[in-house]
Amino acid sequence: MKMRHCKKCRSYTLEERCKKCGAETTTPHPPRFSPQDPYGKYRRKLKMEIWRKMDEL
Ligand SMILES: [Zn+2]
Repeated sequence: MKMRHCKKCRSYTLEERCKKCGAETTTPHPPRFSPQDPYGKYRRKLKMEIWRKMDEL
């Protein structure tokens, strides 16, 4: 089962259309790297660490 999210009223539903406002719902994606992402910097650093460790193996 996939959780879907209505951007309009910010409610979660399993339907493709929001039951509350009838707007199309979207599947929430895991956050990607973006300049607005406060954790992006940390994640990038972590990835670099992983690559470095893989090189060492
Ligand atoms: Zn809605």
